[in-house]
Amino acid sequence: MTSSQHNASAGGDGIAADWVARSLASVWHPCTQMQHHETVPLVAVSHGRGAWLYDHDGRRYLDAISSWWVNLFGHANPRINNALKDQLDKLEHAMLAGFTHEPVVQLSEQLKALTGGVLGHCFYASDGASAVEIALKMSFHAWRNSGHSAKQEFVCVRGGYHGETIGALAVTDVALFKDAYGPLLRPAHVVASPDARLAEPGESAQDVARRAARDLERLLQERGPQIAAVIVEPLVQCATGMAMHDPLYLALVRALCDQYQVHLIFDEIAVGCGRTGTFFACQQAEMADGTAVWPDFLCLSKGISGGYLPLSLVLSKEEIYQAFYSSDVTRGFLHSHSYTGNPLACRAALATLAIFEEDDVLNRNRQRAARMTAALAPLAAHDKVRHFRQRGMIWAFDAVIDDAQAAASFSRRFFAEGLRQEMLMRPIGRSVYLMPPYILADDEIDTLAARTLAVFEQTMAGH
Ligand SMILES: *Cc1c(COP(=O)(O)O)cnc(C)c1O
Repeated sequence: MTSSQHNASAGGDGIAADWVARSLASVWHPCTQMQHHETVPLVAVSHGRGAWLYDHDGRRYLDAISSWWVNLFGHANPRINNALKDQLDKLEHAMLAGFTHEPVVQLSEQLKALTGGVLGHCFYASDGASAVEIALKMSFHAWRNSGHSAKQEFVCVRGGYHGETIGALAVTDVALFKDAYGPLLRPAHVVASPDARLAEPGESAQDVARRAARDLERLLQERGPQIAAVIVEPLVQCATGMAMHDPLYLALVRALCDQYQVHLIFDEIAVGCGRTGTFFACQQAEMADGTAVWPDFLCLSKGISGGYLPLSLVLSKEEIYQAFYSSDVTRGFLHSHSYTGNPLACRAALATLAIFEEDDVLNRNRQRAARMTAALAPLAAHDKVRHFRQRGMIWAFDAVIDDAQAAASFSRRFFAEGLRQEMLMRPIGRSVYLMPPYILADDEIDTLAARTLAVFEQTMAGH
């Protein structure tokens, strides 16, 4: 593609076009058919501030999806920047085998405290997919160490997403990512999704949750002794298109896992860190007797470092940890990443957790969410919008498009139109969503809502 084509589509010229041309010649971009960049703009970012990203030509874009759901408190956040500058002069990295350091200890203690002490052992990696791999391996190995070596199978939910390495992809059920690599993957059981959009006439979201749990129960009745773990994205299955379900589902799954002796993994990589309204999404569920719903393993990544550095982790229960505690090396958990517990990443995470405290973020997000939902009312009522939905700081709706060709290109056209109107948004198929950082001022909320409607109408009119 020539730079003039890019300029025509993005409306800029000058230094930005040069970075774009050089990027296309040397950088292989993720989740991208590179040929699409012949028509879809590529934006060369020069810097970020708050909720905005700026390109080299001085154009700006409101980061309405938190740069793939990672950025919680804005770009170039002064408090996180200062914490990192301080950490840089103390310790950038040291190996975590045989050594430990202040940031990793403090972060592990604080995360344990956030689970009320239930998930007290924290294992670190760098990306979400690796956290999922760790949870799967730990589950299998914990069972084997306790004499249940037949437990080797995993269960995932239809439409679920857990990352794209070979092991994580095996428990992912998004055709676009999975089908091409099917022959490489160890099959997993896929059970019905509790997605509330699947409600039959007269059914409530809780009815759908009960129906989905019955599907899991049938599988566990049949294969419980062979199954190591069930993996679930609590409350919102994000990558499949922000499919939301009732918290009841989590309680029902927890009860079934207890009954059939199967581990439960909550993948809170996207929904953790306050995204759904509580710090952990699973805190919105409760068991029939009113007690909390905790998994055996909880995976976190994305927002935990405030969107600054690659960091992921798996929190696990005491029984899991004890299953590995032994004088025998081979009964220990055998997994190592070079950058495990990186001090800079942990320090960014500590600064992020401090902001939650200092700014009373979960409460203030309630006000932000109420304002955004009210501002989006015209969109929710639009006749080409279906299933308008919201949970915490996530909003989504599905575009009604009859023409198949228009539907196939909807996401790319929406993205390009968004850039023209200073919005960074990337719909998933026909599902448009907002997942902004937790710092929007009232006027930014109103702008975001109004432009989302404008971009939607323009995209719908434009094909
Ligand atoms: C993003 C995501 C992952 C994978 O994380 P990466 O850092 O991209 O490997 C896993 N699970 C969920 C729910 C995610 O949203």
